[in-house]
Parts: sequence; C-alpha cells; structure tokens
Amino acid sequence: MSYPLKETRDIHLLNQALTYTLVRRKRRTIGFKVDGSGLTVSAPPREPYHYLEQLILERAPWIVKKLQELEANRLPQRTWQNGERLLLLGDELELNLYRSLRRAEPIRSTGKIWVGVPDIRDADAVQQRVAQWYRRLAAQHFQTRLACYAPRLGLAPPPLKLSNARTTWGMCLSSGVIRLSWRLIKAPQPQIDYVVAHEIAHLKHMNHSRAFWDTVAQLYPDFESQRLALERDGARYHTF
Ligand SMILES: [Zn+2]
Repeated sequence: MSYPLKETRDIHLLNQALTYTLVRRKRRTIGFKVDGSGLTVSAPPREPYHYLEQLILERAPWIVKKLQELEANRLPQRTWQNGERLLLLGDELELNLYRSLRRAEPIRSTGKIWVGVPDIRDADAVQQRVAQWYRRLAAQHFQTRLACYAPRLGLAPPPLKLSNARTTWGMCLSSGVIRLSWRLIKAPQPQIDYVVAHEIAHLKHMNHSRAFWDTVAQLYPDFESQRLALERDGARYHTF
C-alpha cells in the first residue's frame, strides 16, 4: 500500500454529526488539525478506528471551539457602507450615513442608526464614530444593570470599566471594579443580565464554587440558558 491514504469518516461530537478526514501516514504519532477544510486526523497506518475516535471525543471541546472560531471568521466583513446591519441589544439596526461637517452624535430611530461624518466613504471615520457611540451606550446601560442587581445582594453598585477584551465578556477585579466588554451591548438583554449577575456574584465569591453559582441563580434564575446562548451567539458580537 502507498501512503498517505485519505478517507472521510463521520463521528458524533457534542450532539452534532461531524465529518472529518483521516489521513494514514507512515508516522508514529497521531495529529489533529482544524482548518478551513474541517478536522483532519493524521494517524499511523494500523491505528484502530475506535482508538482514534476515542481521542477525537476527548478533544471535542477544543475541536468544537476551533470550528466555531473559523465560523466566526467567515462572518461578513464590515464595509461601513449604507445599509449595513449592526446589532444593538439583540436588535438589528440599519446603518444610514449622511454628510455632516459638524461632529454630530449618531441618532437612533426605529430600526436605523444615522451617522454623520464629513466623508461617508471614509470607512475608518464611520467605524470610529459608531464604536464611540456603542461604548457610550454600553457604559450607560451596564451601569443601570449593575445598579439593578447589586442591591439584591445588599451591595452598592460597583464601579464599572469598559473593556475591549475579545476573550472575556466580564471580569470582577479584587478591587471590586467590574469590567465588561463594550461589545456585550450588542447582545439581547437576558444575555447581558446573565453576565452582570455573574460578575456581581463574584463580589461575594471570588471563585466558581457551588456557592458562587447558587448566588448567580439567585440573581438570575435562567442564567444557564443565557450562558449557552451567549456562547452560541458570541462570535456575532465580535465582528468589529
Ligand atoms: Zn466568573
């Protein structure tokens, strides 16, 4: 037989069917790769299928995460032109540009956001104006939500800092400051409230212990489904 030998196989991974490529090579080790063509497993010629599939299952969280990241990168790139869709609190807004030499605040009306810039073809200027607007709204909105949840644990609303993080939605510092990613303002209210409840609960428990999750549930009983929804939709909030 001549190597490499290539075949495609199916496996059930975290409740979804996944087709992967198995490449048999003259090698001693087993390799895993996730890229634009999906999962590829490289294995020695006689390694049994059931053993390979067991290894794939052990790596399921990593594989699924990699596939999701690739999916996120396939989301449309922003052009910052008229008609583009932006998310705010889970709703889609249509971007409407107009020429304005003055530094005007973006205006939101039903289903639309109006952004005035000196030159509407200047994508950088549009993006900058929109991002500033998001950050301002995020700060106002998150402060309101923190002020809503903190008193339920007998606490004063904590100081808020916006973050630009792309890996975490929120973080509670030991100083008691809560950092939230401004991009979270694109998510629907329940997902935001889950993150807010999560970080407020950290003011009582600086860990992810059982007591911590009980406190999250006390603040936001439906937190589990929102946590999953945020994991599912999160990549959409990161397109800019
Ligand atoms: Zn946490």
